[in-house]
Amino acid sequence: MLPFIRITFTFMVLCVHCCSSEMSIDASAEAEENQSIDDSLKEDEFTVSTLIEKANKNAGQGVDEPTIKFGDIAVSTGLQNADPCTARGCKWQKSSDGKVYVPFIISNQYSSRERTVILQGLQSFSQSTCIQFRPRTRERDFVHIQSRGGCYSFIGRRGGGQVVSLDRRGCVFFGIVQHELIHALGFNHEQTRSDRDRHVRILYQNIIRGQEHNFRLIRTNNLGTPYDYNSVMHYGRYAFSRNRQPTIVPIPNSNAVIGRATSMSRNDILRINRLYGCR
Ligand SMILES: [Zn+2]
Repeated sequence: MLPFIRITFTFMVLCVHCCSSEMSIDASAEAEENQSIDDSLKEDEFTVSTLIEKANKNAGQGVDEPTIKFGDIAVSTGLQNADPCTARGCKWQKSSDGKVYVPFIISNQYSSRERTVILQGLQSFSQSTCIQFRPRTRERDFVHIQSRGGCYSFIGRRGGGQVVSLDRRGCVFFGIVQHELIHALGFNHEQTRSDRDRHVRILYQNIIRGQEHNFRLIRTNNLGTPYDYNSVMHYGRYAFSRNRQPTIVPIPNSNAVIGRATSMSRNDILRINRLYGCR
């Protein structure tokens, strides 16, 4: 795919400038610009959002897979920063000792190395928040971590066992484990936050046709925390790009780094603590 796009770009540059006496100067400027796009794309290659997007290319098409509507957010029926559902009971319950125990099962599909990565992701929450993932015994509601088609999760507690899919092909990374579990705790992507238009500009003309819904604004509860380019829930600059041009540009400083986090940011942690009233 990429080599093809590169050829198209080169071709366009040559076409535009073939009759110009300044061709060599312009061409080298274009080449430099292309190089800088290449560099940005390369730097974005291993960020959480790029890895998820890649792993999800063919996701959601299995017979028993949920419809994946918002990148990696699974939506089954009706549900349509903290999702509005958190005010209606999709939070996980707090125990009298102040901790929020979230029961989990990890499918036996994983190798021991993969299992270790997943467990490290789960345990990371208890180091900075009052969320404690613990192996399910008889609890009714729990997260069921499985390798299905892609990386995805529902938003908040759904009742009963709910799938968090961490596909062995491309999703078993510490940051992605955190990202999907933060969805399960009730949070949306940062760039769909209610106040996002003050912090980023969405370039709809560059988004893959049919993927615009990934950028739909949600009436989130932002819990008094600032918009955070470095949130592990923030997409990268080129998310769902159809033409190697940016789809999300920060404002006012368009050069600000966005969506490169590889683990939870301080704001991600603060939000979890505020939503769940951790002391
Ligand atoms: Zn996500």
